Amino acid sequence: MAITTFRAKVREHELLAGRFQYVDFELMSPARIQFQGGQYLIMKVPGMEERRNYSIASEPAQDHSVEILVDISPGGDGSLYLASLSPGDEAEFMAPAGVFVVADPESELGRAEEKLLFVATGSGISSIRSQILDLLQTKKDKREMYLHWGMRYVEDLFWEEEFRELAEFFPNFHFDLVLSRPPRQWSLCSGYVTHCVAEHHKDFSKIGVYLCGNGQMLVDMTTLLTERGIQKEHIHTEKFF
Ligand SMILES: Cc1cc2nc3c(=O)[nH]c(=O)nc-3n(C[C@H](O)[C@H](O)[C@H](O)COP(=O)(O)OP(=O)(O)OC[C@H]3O[C@@H](n4cnc5c(N)ncnc54)[C@H](O)[C@@H]3O)c2cc1C
Repeated sequence: MAITTFRAKVREHELLAGRFQYVDFELMSPARIQFQGGQYLIMKVPGMEERRNYSIASEPAQDHSVEILVDISPGGDGSLYLASLSPGDEAEFMAPAGVFVVADPESELGRAEEKLLFVATGSGISSIRSQILDLLQTKKDKREMYLHWGMRYVEDLFWEEEFRELAEFFPNFHFDLVLSRPPRQWSLCSGYVTHCVAEHHKDFSKIGVYLCGNGQMLVDMTTLLTERGIQKEHIHTEKFF
């Protein structure tokens, strides 16, 4: 779908874990969208020339609405605007944008990606949620998929129940939550997500890697993957800041 200007109405607006603004927009005009998991929208912030980009967190099969998930802790104009919205408010954005999409399994690139590794930090889970829901629920993709999601504190967590349920339902999906500042009784991986990936995965052959989040994680992961011999074209990235 060519990039299009959408008018939409806020249907649901919820602050998760005290700092992640979830917004569900019902599309008004046009009323339907076609996009690929991992793409983003370009939000108009009233009174500002500059726009803000937000990955679409919902799955492409859901075409009459889009969900976004925004870390509002930066506190800039985009964060303030999205936090200020209420159900019924109207908004304008352009979509879909971006090329952070899972390689088509029928393409030469996709055929070489027999396993998929997803790594997110913070709100970077947004685009990856869309990709994973699309692969598992709509495309019924049977490849082994691993999601490592790095957060700081246990108090920051949201959506982990949804990923755990997906992992229970789809035997080819594996979910690993990583906390850099875990509580004492934390039994899962702790520290930086890159270290946990290095510990978990010894075989990086025929893998496609999808990284989304902060710049430092992208740099650290890319260094690790390059050292393990993964070709650049199989390291797909989306940098939020
Ligand atoms: C392709 C793309 C997709 C994106 N998708 C998402 C998304 O789905 N969810 C999401 O939360 N963000 C996403 N972002 C980041 C988003 O576009 C904004 O940059 C972010 O919301 C901050 O905007 P702001 O207006 O609140 O702050 P700004 O006015 O832009 O910045 C305020 C201050 O905070 C710093 N800062 C900016 N972003 C961050 C951050 N994430 N963490 C810490 N400090 C920061 C800036 O350097 C500046 O000092 C995406 C960015 C890109 C490029």
